[in-house]
Formats: sequence, structure tokens, C-alpha cells
Amino acid sequence: MTQTGSNGRSEQVETTPRTIVAVLAHPDDETFIIGGTLALYASRGHHVHVIYGPFGPEPDGRPTPQRLSELEAAANTLGITANTFLSAPDRSESPAQAGALGEGTLPHLTNAIRAELRGLRPDVVITFDATGATGNLNHILTGAATLQAVGSMTGVTAPRLYAAVFGRRQLAAGLRIGRLTRRKNLDDVRDALRIAQESQRPTTTIDVRGVLAQRLEAARCYTTALREGAWWMRRWELLSPRLRRHLAPREVYARLIPPVSDSEDMENGLFGEG
Ligand SMILES: [Zn+2]
Repeated sequence: MTQTGSNGRSEQVETTPRTIVAVLAHPDDETFIIGGTLALYASRGHHVHVIYGPFGPEPDGRPTPQRLSELEAAANTLGITANTFLSAPDRSESPAQAGALGEGTLPHLTNAIRAELRGLRPDVVITFDATGATGNLNHILTGAATLQAVGSMTGVTAPRLYAAVFGRRQLAAGLRIGRLTRRKNLDDVRDALRIAQESQRPTTTIDVRGVLAQRLEAARCYTTALREGAWWMRRWELLSPRLRRHLAPREVYARLIPPVSDSEDMENGLFGEG
């Protein structure tokens, strides 16, 4: 099996393929938030599956056809094995719930995610922490539902659970980008500071320098997301791999399950391998 090391070179190593499932809110989260990690583990021959919440504009909560085709291109680039779309709560059963964000959304999502995870039997689950990484409400809901779902799975098949956090390094990098581009938006800076403060303590970093070219190619697939996004988001996502190697060489996570003890060292892998 071929493995891409942090130096970007491929080497032959013996690994048993394992399964990583990311539970996210929207097509583009897999690329913009954890794209390096997914590309790295896919390049090592592991199965990478992404589950999306029912937050799209279509009546059943699915994304637009255009966003789906952008996802298909990005997923091929990153090496993602499969995608699943959760459906919105059935409104005929509880007509009071208008839209996907009604009162029953959290238990509905939790049950749907648990059912998917039981079928997929992942070794590792990745989702959002309580800040939703960007403060987005759908991200926060998805992270809360996934934490409940994985927390209720017991026994030897219970997966490890990680939340993507931006951490201080990412914040510092974001502020440097702001300075580099000579644009000032104090609200963005305040939001970023708040999110960094409220984020879980990082426990795990993944060196993604070897897959930054794939990550950039995947980001470029999201024409509509980049057009709709803020100027700094476009700038950040389309950063050249050369600059990104310096500004964001690692993606950062907090391990939620099993909990991390105070004496434990920082991890460098999702399976506890480094
Ligand atoms: Zn999102």
C-alpha cells in the first residue's frame, strides 16, 4: 500500500485499511475545514466516508445540483470513498416543525447519525466542536448531535471521536492573512478571537503538508461557495501550497472520546498511531 508521508513522498508501508467517517453540515466543509486530513488518510488507503446534515435548500434538505457536482469533483480530488445525505425530519409527522431547524432537529439528527454510524462501523469519527469551527448554527447542531450519537455507542465497536478546532496557530495565520491583504474587518477578527477562546483544547495535530496541492485543487472545485464566501475566506482557501505550508502546516483536533487525560502527550494521528 502506498503512503504519503509528511514530506510529500510516497513510501510502501503495510497498513490495515480503517474507516474514518466525518459528520459535517454542508458540502464544502469536508474540504475547507478538514480537507488535508481526509486527503492524507485516503492516500494511505483508508476508507473516508462523509455524512452531511439536512441543511441544503432542496425540499428534503439536500444541496442544490450544482453544489452536488462541486462536491463530486472535490471528493474525487481528496480521495473520499463515499457520501451520505441525511434527510430532513418528515414534516407530515410533526407539521409544527417548519424547516430542518425545528425543535425536534437535535434528536432527529442524533438518531439518524447513530443509525448511519452503526452501519458504517467507523474507527474514527470527525465532527465540529461547540463553536462549529466558524460559529455556523448548522455546524454547531451537527457537532452536538454527533457527540450525543457517538457518546451513546458503547462496547468495543465505539469509535474515537474528534472535533475539528481552529486553535491558536490557525487564528494567528488568519490574522496574518488579514494583514497581508491589507483589509480590515474588525467583526471577523472579533469572531475569530471568540471562537479560538471557546474552542476545545487541541489534543491532536495532523501534518498535512504532503497533501496541500490536492487540498487546493479540491477547494477550487467549489466555485459557488467561493463566490458567496467572504473575501478573507476566498483568500485563505486559495492560498498557494507554498504559503500554506508555513501558515497552516497542520490541521488541529480535540479528541472528545475517549477523553484525554492531563498527562497525555499531544497526538499526531487519529488512530492513536503517533
Ligand atoms: Zn458549512
